[in-house]
Amino acid sequence: MSSKMIVNYKELYDITSTLTPIYSDCGELCGKICCQPDSEDNLGVYLYPGEERMFTGKENWLQWEHRNPAEDDFPPSWGFPVHFIRCTRSCPREQRPLNCRFFPLAPHLLKDNTLLLIHETLKLPYMCPLITGRTPLRKDFAEITARCWQELLRDSRIRDLVEMDSREREREGCRPYVVYPGIKIF
Ligand code: SF4
Ligand code: SF4
Repeated sequence: MSSKMIVNYKELYDITSTLTPIYSDCGELCGKICCQPDSEDNLGVYLYPGEERMFTGKENWLQWEHRNPAEDDFPPSWGFPVHFIRCTRSCPREQRPLNCRFFPLAPHLLKDNTLLLIHETLKLPYMCPLITGRTPLRKDFAEITARCWQELLRDSRIRDLVEMDSREREREGCRPYVVYPGIKIF
């Protein structure tokens, strides 16, 4: 049974520290567009509950915001605050948050609790060439990302979020591009 628990973020950061979606630097394909502020400076990254403990709060490359979960469409199980960070310059790579490490993959949980990894379907203010070109991603990148999601989904708040996003995709008739099919989650 899932519960409100703190995920072992240290372990997840360790196993993803050198992980990259392709063997070369994909930032060279797009000028690191996913790290640049958009015209309204809205671009940033949400942290998962407890992930903020991986930071000191004094990083000179980050701005922090405490967001209200109800206003940002998180499930009711998410309490205040949800941490949202914006980068003011390049990050030290080993400190980047999980959402940056996993991109362009996102989790999709089928109703029978099968976890798929798909191309991110969020509306973004930029185009990621790995998504638009359907570039084959490293096998170990997908495998380790899937392993991380198995751990993250043990937290019921994260599971609520992934289930909510998955049902929304299905309601909207979105047919995501599946990169890594089929792990059963309990
Ligand atoms: S937008 Fe895509 S290709 Fe560009 S740096 Fe980000 S993940 Fe890599
Ligand atoms: S944390 Fe690093 S990888 Fe993520 S958006 Fe900021 S600069 Fe880019």
